Amino acid sequence: MTILVTGGAGYIGSHTALALLEAGYSVVVLDNLANASRESLARVEALAERTLTFVEGDIRDRGVLDRLLNEHEFSAVIHFAGLKAVGESVSQPLGYYENNVSGTVTLCQAMQAAGVFKLVFSSSATVYGDEHPMPLHEGLPTGKPTNPYGRSKLMVEEVLQDLAHSDTRWSIARLRYFNPVGAHESGQIGEDPQGIPNNLLPYVAQVAVGRRDCLAVYGSDYATPDGTGVRDYIHVMDLAEGHLCALNTLLNNKNDCYTWNLGTGQGYSVLEVIDAFERASGVTIPYRIESRRPGDVATCWSDPTLAERELVWKAKRDLTTMMVDTWRWQQRNPQGYR
Ligand code: NAD
Ligand code: UDP
Repeated sequence: MTILVTGGAGYIGSHTALALLEAGYSVVVLDNLANASRESLARVEALAERTLTFVEGDIRDRGVLDRLLNEHEFSAVIHFAGLKAVGESVSQPLGYYENNVSGTVTLCQAMQAAGVFKLVFSSSATVYGDEHPMPLHEGLPTGKPTNPYGRSKLMVEEVLQDLAHSDTRWSIARLRYFNPVGAHESGQIGEDPQGIPNNLLPYVAQVAVGRRDCLAVYGSDYATPDGTGVRDYIHVMDLAEGHLCALNTLLNNKNDCYTWNLGTGQGYSVLEVIDAFERASGVTIPYRIESRRPGDVATCWSDPTLAERELVWKAKRDLTTMMVDTWRWQQRNPQGYR
């Protein structure tokens, strides 16, 4: 079976491409390399000891999509391609709506024309908004995301729901990720942010390796046990395996628009993450407390039981493993893929 993976050269896409190859699927990656390099896929191929097909191209380009969908017989599409920097989405909303919303609409139009109706989509816990008590479960109504990035994810979720209702040939999985971290245990592939990292773990890892001096902890006055923000960190390989389970469910079930949380159900504070990273790496992370980051919520963690039941999937890797694997990747690749 052949799977089209959009955005497959990126962080989560490359780990999922590896899991797909190891499970015996053929993989075609479409990526415009806006936030990735070809090197990640070279390493995926080396780890899997199998080749994949890479096409440098854009999901907004209908011509490229039509050619690709006609050349291959895809069983499904796993759609990671998109922009994900929250701050940038505030200053460049049109770019975010164009890539994430219009790009997905173009992809779905091309899939429909080619007769490919199985789609796994990368959504985010951000679609729940900030008004629900924890843990977040899929039965809750979606809320009001606080930035254009989050709104683009919510818009796509709604487009996909309408699509599945309009035509019974569609089977769609909307996967709401919590906080993906970590790297493949080989230390060969991992997260390689361009410029200053926005997310906690890549920042901590770059401090540890000497690329940055000091971590800013955004807020110590939240209503949490130690005052810092609490999140549900999930190992990227658990996330990748969740995609394979979702894919399997789509391939074996009737038309539907499914929604599944991919999280661990366990929250950790910023200070707990720093402590776990220090113990895993043996490196002290200098940090200073700063004011809260605008738009941040105090707590966010999942109720993962629906995915456990329906996908027969459960995140297996604990916080220590997430830290050990992040550190192995960063230590072996201090400048990322460069
Ligand atoms: P990433 O930036 O590493 O990967 C995205 C990939 O898509 C990159 O390789 C980029 O070059 C490619 N891309 C971007 N726009 C494209 C376009 N128009 N056409 C073709 N390729 C394009 O990000 P990631 O962390 O791997 O995230 C993957 C998906 O998961 C994204 O949709 C993201 O919004 C979503 N997500 C990520 C997180 C997270 O914390 N990493 C959390 C929730 C949801
Ligand atoms: N955070 C921090 N310093 C940083 C980056 C993040 O203190 O340099 C905190 C942030 O306020 C939040 C947690 O770490 O409480 C996770 O933030 P991240 O950006 O990784 O994920 P998200 O905000 O999307 O959940």
